[in-house]
Amino acid sequence: MNIKANISNILNDLDEKVQLVAVSKTKPNNYILEAYQAGQRIFGENKVQELVKKHNILPNDIQWHMIGHLQTNKVKYIAPFVSLIHSVDSKKLLIEIDKRAKQNDRVIHCLLQIHIAQESNKFGLNENEALELLEMNLSNISIDGLMGMATFTDDKRQIRSEFKSLKNTFEKVRREFNNLFILSMGMSGDYDIAIKEGSNMIRIGSSIFGSR
Ligand SMILES: *Cc1c(COP(=O)(O)O)cnc(C)c1O
Repeated sequence: MNIKANISNILNDLDEKVQLVAVSKTKPNNYILEAYQAGQRIFGENKVQELVKKHNILPNDIQWHMIGHLQTNKVKYIAPFVSLIHSVDSKKLLIEIDKRAKQNDRVIHCLLQIHIAQESNKFGLNENEALELLEMNLSNISIDGLMGMATFTDDKRQIRSEFKSLKNTFEKVRREFNNLFILSMGMSGDYDIAIKEGSNMIRIGSSIFGSR
């Protein structure tokens, strides 16, 4: 597997407006360093313990994104350094992130995770819940956009319609909160569809680092 070639293949297909998050969960540090040496600086993890460990060891100009479900009692461990949290899915979590951001004297950038998949096991807010969180206007939180995950299926029509619905929600919410600018959607299997439907941040794991 050639991590560097995988990254350049993906980047070659991308408009410069689309940001690539290299999802390094479960992968060893030497894989991450290989991607780093190829110029990649944004990495995504879905477990707090693994994220903290990697942050402590790897170069400090890496921007670490938390992309997985986040428990309130673990926010304190990533609050000092996390660059973007993609997975805000409750009011309680957002209030905790604000509190820990204050303690660290920083603003923490967040995305609201919207439930778009048919599967009920996926986390996320609906549009009204998202609006409610945006209206809170917490002092040490910057809500920069929305994130969503499509259903795990081969049915491209269904995936496309789920991404379309997230893009619609994004545009609707943005009429009121026009500082939102990130739409995080698309993974290895569906990022081509996501980009066509308006994504500007894709989260790619297996197409860069191999299967897990
Ligand atoms: C694992 C994961 C990804 C990347 O998945 P791949 O299919 O390996 O590209 C993207 N987003 C989230 C939230 C993930 O947990």
